[in-house]
Amino acid sequence: MRRIKDPAIMQRLALRWRSRGVRIGFVPTMGYLHAGHLSLVARARQAVGSRGRVVVSIYVNPTQFGPAEDLSRYPRDPKRDLALCRDAGTDVVFMPEDATMYSGRETGRYSTYVVEESLTRSMEGVTRPTHFRGVTTIVAKLFNLVQPNVAVFGEKDWQQATVVGRMVQDLNIPLQLVVAPTVREPDGLAMSSRNKYLDPVRRAQAVVLWRSLNHVRSRVGSSRSGRVSSAVLTREVASMISKEPDARMDYVEFFEPSTLAPQPWVMRGTRMALAVLVGPTRLIDNGLI
Ligand code: AMP
Repeated sequence: MRRIKDPAIMQRLALRWRSRGVRIGFVPTMGYLHAGHLSLVARARQAVGSRGRVVVSIYVNPTQFGPAEDLSRYPRDPKRDLALCRDAGTDVVFMPEDATMYSGRETGRYSTYVVEESLTRSMEGVTRPTHFRGVTTIVAKLFNLVQPNVAVFGEKDWQQATVVGRMVQDLNIPLQLVVAPTVREPDGLAMSSRNKYLDPVRRAQAVVLWRSLNHVRSRVGSSRSGRVSSAVLTREVASMISKEPDARMDYVEFFEPSTLAPQPWVMRGTRMALAVLVGPTRLIDNGLI
């Protein structure tokens, strides 16, 4: 396994592979890897085969964090990440630095961003207004550096995967996007690097996101008409969350999975997403109803 820091070296290697017909699978991450990330690495390998190359990027991208968010505290453990990537059969770990990815950003000599103007208006985009501009920008840059045939994203961040899919389509980026299922802890909590912030008491309360998803699934499953109003379900989910002493609901939304359009009635095939603050830690989850 090779570790590359320099974007120019990464791009040169990727272009050499592509010119020889070698397929490239790519998994972008912010590190502090867990089994969810590793499932994406396995999916990338499956997509490019044993003769292809799998690249994992580890980069805590500053432009997707708001000024009051956890950029400086974001958990990091590069040594462990490298060992996990090696064991998962990664060919290259790309670990760039701010100085090379956003050279001149402080002095105004970095000034190009990619903005998706529709799908980013709801959910995460409301609470985190500059978040997706950072995501689409870094993902576009990484695509240019890694030259993937296949890029794998997690369903865990459904809105992000949908926004990236729209960018790929709108900007004619020549790659296939794969969205892989959410990997969960045994009690249902979606794996996330941010789970590290939770003390045992809050860790137990965090399962309310998973319980909320299942509550809605069983309400819709057992309703005679096969549909329940979003307003009613929103109230029920809010009430479940409010029973956890340290939990505060940011949003719950019911939407059409590919357009993210809010749905007044929830039925099979509707998707639900929610964001909950557990103490200071903001957690998100989503699932198909
Ligand atoms: P992050 O390091 O949190 O930016 O995530 C990197 C990629 O891993 C994104 O495509 C996420 O959607 C995906 N991911 C994060 N958590 C999970 C999970 N529990 N299961 C599957 N994929 C995940």
